[in-house]
Amino acid sequence: MAQEDIFKKLVAHCKEYGFVFQSSEIYDGLGAVYDYGQNGVELKNNIKKYWWDSMVLLHENVVGLDSAIFMHPTIWKASGHVDAFNDPLIDNKDSKKRYRADVLIEEQLAKIEDKINKEIEKAAKRFGDAFNEQQFRETNLRVLENQQKWDALHNRFAKALNDGNLDELRQIIVDEEIVCPISGTRNWTEVRQFNLMFSTEMGSTADGAQKIYLRPETAQGIFVNYLNVQKTGRMKIPFGIAQIGKAFRNEIVARQFIFRMREFEQMEMQFFVKPGTELDWFEKWKTTRMNWHQALGFGAENYRFHVHEKLAHYANAAVDVEYKFPFGFKEVEGIHSRTDFDLSQHEKYSGKKIRYFDPELNDSFVPFVVETSIGVDRMFLQVLSAAYCEEQLENDMRVVLKIPPMLAPVKLAVLPLVKKDGLPEIARQIIDDLKFEFNCQYDEKDSIGKRYRRQDAIGTPFCVTVDNQTPEDNSVTIRYRDTMTQERVSISELSGIIGKQVSYKNLFAKI
Ligand code: ATP
Repeated sequence: MAQEDIFKKLVAHCKEYGFVFQSSEIYDGLGAVYDYGQNGVELKNNIKKYWWDSMVLLHENVVGLDSAIFMHPTIWKASGHVDAFNDPLIDNKDSKKRYRADVLIEEQLAKIEDKINKEIEKAAKRFGDAFNEQQFRETNLRVLENQQKWDALHNRFAKALNDGNLDELRQIIVDEEIVCPISGTRNWTEVRQFNLMFSTEMGSTADGAQKIYLRPETAQGIFVNYLNVQKTGRMKIPFGIAQIGKAFRNEIVARQFIFRMREFEQMEMQFFVKPGTELDWFEKWKTTRMNWHQALGFGAENYRFHVHEKLAHYANAAVDVEYKFPFGFKEVEGIHSRTDFDLSQHEKYSGKKIRYFDPELNDSFVPFVVETSIGVDRMFLQVLSAAYCEEQLENDMRVVLKIPPMLAPVKLAVLPLVKKDGLPEIARQIIDDLKFEFNCQYDEKDSIGKRYRRQDAIGTPFCVTVDNQTPEDNSVTIRYRDTMTQERVSISELSGIIGKQVSYKNLFAKI
C-alpha cells in the first residue's frame, strides 16, 4: 500500500479509537489545532514521562521547571522573535494558496534525493550481496548527474537563506519550475516575511493594556529563570534545565495532521556550559538524543541527522533528528548550540547580570547553551507511524498498534470469557489488584476475538482472559499483542510479567 494511503488510514484510526480529534469539531473545526482523546492523552503522558525521566532522573545535573506561557513582552524583543521570527512566504496567484518558500525548495531537494535513492535501491536489488553503494554513487551517471543537481540547488538555497535574499528564493522557485500542487501553475507572487507569534492584550483599560505574546518556544522561560534555578538549586556548570509546555506559532502552512500545529507542546532542555566546551557538549547530546529515539526499537535506518542549511541568528551549530514518516524524512527534534546569545541579550535588555561565578577560574562568565528541543506531538506521530500495522491473518485482518509496551495507553485488558459463573467478579478483582500499577481496562462485551481486536487497535500489549478453569486453580491466559501467542499463568504472576515489560528501565538501559 502506498505510504500516503497508510497515512490517511492512520489519521482515520486516530479519530476512530480516541487518540486525536480535530479541535472544535462540532463547529467544523479550527485549522491546525487538535485535541487528544482518551487514548491519545495516555500515550502523550507516557511519551512525556519517558522524556522527563530520561532528562531529570538519569542526569543528576538536570533539573525541571514549569514557567508561565505569558511572559514580559521585552523577552521576545531580547530573544529576537519580534524582529526575526519570520517565515518567507509565497502565494500562488491562481489557487490563492500560500506556501513557505523554503519548504517548497526543500521538497524539490527531496525529490532529487528520492531519484538517487531509487537508483540505488534498484541496483542493490540487481547486484544483491555484491552491491557496493559507495562505488555505485561514484560511478553511476544518472546518480552523479542528480547529485550534481542536488549540490548546486542546495548551495544556492543555503546562500539565499543565509543572505536573507527573498528575491533569490523566488528566483530559485521560478528556475526550478516548481508548480503549485493545487493549481499546477507557476504564477507566483513575491516572497514576503511573516511573523509567527500570536499576540493578545493583558490588562483591562485601553491605555493600560499591554501587548503580550503567546510563547513560540518554551526555551525563553528557562533562560529568564537561569539565575533563580542556578542559585536556589546551587547548580554547578555544566547543568541543564528541562521543561515541557505548550508553544504557539501562527503557522501559515499547517499540514500533515499533528505534524505542524498552531498550538503544540515542546519538551526542551537547555544545558549551560563553559564557553569553548559547547561543541563537545553538542556532540554528546546529539548521541544521547539519538539513543533515546532509537531505544524505542523503530529501526535505526528510519532516523538520520540533518545539518541545517541556515543557522538561526543565535546558533553556532545545529542539527535536526529526522524520522522517516509515511510522508518522508522530517524533523522531530532540533539540537542547537545557542552560544551565549540568549543570556547576553537578557543581560542587555533587563540590565541584570546573568553570569556564573567559576571558583576554579576565580572569574565569572555568561554560560553558553546547548539545547535539545523536541515536539511532543511530532513524537506522538512518530510512535503511531511506526506502530501502525495491518496484518493479514488466516481468515481475518487485524489492525494493530505495536506501541512499545511502556508507552501503550492501556497496558492490560482483563476479559471474562463469559458474563456468568463468577468470572466477571474474578476479572474485576484482578483489576482492583493491579490498577495502582498499570492502566487496566475491563471488557466483557462481544466474542473474545472481537475484544482482542479492539485491544490490538489501541495497542494494548497484554490481554488476560478469565475462563472456567480460573475459579479452580487461579490461572488465566495471557495473550501477547505482537505474536498473538497465549500462555497459561497464575494470577499472582501477572504483576511480575507485565511489570517487567512496561518498565521504562528497559528503555533507559539503552540510552
Ligand atoms: P520546522 O522547521 O518544522 O518549522 P522548527 O525548526 O521551526 O520546525 P524548532 O523551532 O527547532 O522547530 O522547534 C523544536 C521542535 O518543536 C521541532 O523539532 C518540532 O518537533 C516541534 N515543533 C516546532 N513547530 C511545530 C509545530 N508547528 N507543530 C508541532 N510541533 C512543532
